[in-house]
Amino acid sequence: MHSKILQELGIPESYGLDPRLPTYAVTKDLVDVEPNIVGVPQRLEPKAADAWRAVKAQAHRDGVELLLVSGFRTLERQAELLRRKLERGILLADILATNVAPGFSQHHTGRAVDIATVGCPPLVEAFEDTDAFAWLTQHAAEFGFDMPYGRSNALGLAFEPWHWFYGGI
Ligand SMILES: [Zn+2]
Repeated sequence: MHSKILQELGIPESYGLDPRLPTYAVTKDLVDVEPNIVGVPQRLEPKAADAWRAVKAQAHRDGVELLLVSGFRTLERQAELLRRKLERGILLADILATNVAPGFSQHHTGRAVDIATVGCPPLVEAFEDTDAFAWLTQHAAEFGFDMPYGRSNALGLAFEPWHWFYGGI
């Protein structure tokens, strides 16, 4: 379980209770998709991988480039993201406002993708102002993707216009 990792990171046991955050199981059902924007190979759950390829291809035909930043993540990888920020002296509470704790990330399912586009740095709110975001808002649902972390979401999580989740069609 992930409780040991949470303890090691100094995350309190009350984390994720109020507001209640969903937990996500780590999938073993994964296929290679493509290297991300910095050349690191990414994996997704097979149906999400097909959907990602399809959505990316259609966007391309419509003149919009969708670039993959991040797909599947292990618990350890999620922990590493938090650990690196702790090492940089960022307060845990501030880190948890933007990165969920291991066990609570949709990336564990292999069905979440962080998307970037040309002309905009990855993982910034300004992605909201890109043609890629406008295209996704209009068409992603046709491919089974939605954007769960909208502005003022009920989970109390940071606005992430780049984070899209494949929930099926
Ligand atoms: Zn994400």
